[in-house]
Amino acid sequence: MLIDSHAHTTDAHFDTDRQEVLNRAFNSGLKYILEVGCEPPLWDKVAELSKQEKIYSMFGLHPQDADKFNEELFNKLKCLLSDKKCVAVGEIGLDYHYENYNRQLQKEIFVKQINLALEINKPICVHCRDAYDDMITVFKEFKSLPKGVIHCFSGSYEQAKVVLDMGFLIGIDGPCTYPKSNKLKRVIENVPLEKILVETDCPYLAPQKYRGTRNEPSYVTEVAKKIAEIKVLPFEEVCNITANNTIELYNLK
Ligand SMILES: [Zn+2]
Repeated sequence: MLIDSHAHTTDAHFDTDRQEVLNRAFNSGLKYILEVGCEPPLWDKVAELSKQEKIYSMFGLHPQDADKFNEELFNKLKCLLSDKKCVAVGEIGLDYHYENYNRQLQKEIFVKQINLALEINKPICVHCRDAYDDMITVFKEFKSLPKGVIHCFSGSYEQAKVVLDMGFLIGIDGPCTYPKSNKLKRVIENVPLEKILVETDCPYLAPQKYRGTRNEPSYVTEVAKKIAEIKVLPFEEVCNITANNTIELYNLK
């Protein structure tokens, strides 16, 4: 049993062959795909896609789009989050990769959406790029936090320990298969498998075997293989436990 816990198959890169890509994933043994709607122009497309069996959705406002926030959009988000196939608020968070991003605004929108998740009792899927210390500071301001995952984890093992102590899981993606991923390999070695989800974040971050091409949900196998290799565990065990972690976190049927 294997689950791609974070995919963007509604991205335009899949417009010509989306259903083939999805069929390939399910034929290769994937149990579920979690489709992420974090850009308002794609929200409806994600809601439509998640009507398919074995596809669940999550909705949120990505930190890169923090400046698009307004009350009308927030109301639409609340409405989408009430969909029966929607399992989480995400991806939300902080992204300090580019200098011109408004960090203060990102924090405000992040906090707003964490509060929303608490209000509706759904987990969060967190995006964090070059902002781990600030993300941890934001979390520390909450008396209680929702359950959730730090998706596409790229922090240090020390930062992983802090978020694990706060009750979060971490999501592992294609970069763990890259030759220069020593920091991430150390995280994988030391974090218990019960705290790990596997994901593709497709169409980006294709695993080494497919690097430079479009990533897709069926390639999540490569991530599970690499984790099995690093942790010296049977591949099947990595698939089953990470799938169970996903089912439990997102309360999938
Ligand atoms: Zn993503």
